[in-house]
Amino acid sequence: MKIGLFFGSFNPVHVGHLIIANHMATQTDLQKVWLVVSPQNPLKPKKTLARDYDRLHLARLGIGDNPLVEASNVEFTLPKPSYTIDTLAVLKEKYPQHEFALIMGGDNIASLHLWKNYEQILAGYDIYVYKRPDYELGALADHPRVKICEAPLLDISATYIRQCIKEGKSVRYLVPDAVLEYLESGKLYK
Ligand code: ATP
Repeated sequence: MKIGLFFGSFNPVHVGHLIIANHMATQTDLQKVWLVVSPQNPLKPKKTLARDYDRLHLARLGIGDNPLVEASNVEFTLPKPSYTIDTLAVLKEKYPQHEFALIMGGDNIASLHLWKNYEQILAGYDIYVYKRPDYELGALADHPRVKICEAPLLDISATYIRQCIKEGKSVRYLVPDAVLEYLESGKLYK
């Protein structure tokens, strides 16, 4: 199966992420999309980053019963910080039956040349890029492994959602209902 990996902190997951994931799983040759939840970087401030398993749980709640999208915790047990090339190697070994590809926004492809072993990533994996306004794609957009997609975009971010919650404002419709319920019942981001 060809699986697209969408990496992020998902702190929390929001409908912007889920629209991209579902678009890629239904409108490209990717058969499934995994949201790969990145663990806390021990060297970075943890103040606004919810615990790994809370973010994973929220991602699963947000996905709901969509059989085409899954959340993965594969990076939780890898040495930190986890580099994409290392995670890809682990996934390849763990799931030899699958073909993996990357999903990223236009902002990320523009700086891909700064990633660890980016040539190796490009040599071994297809990269599905969705355009984001205000970002030039850069030279790597012409690489044969890079597929540029037009996906519906929403101008929302997890930072904005955390800010709303902190200020007691509603995030209804910005996150799926199940995520909203969990956020409203708990202490996250308050
Ligand atoms: P934060 O505001 O905390 O930085 P975020 O909403 O940007 O979070 P991430 O967890 O960093 O979310 O997102 C994972 C990936 O999704 C990143 O590559 C990011 O560029 C992308 N992304 C985030 N928000 C959107 C959106 N509204 N539309 C499309 N892609 C998005």
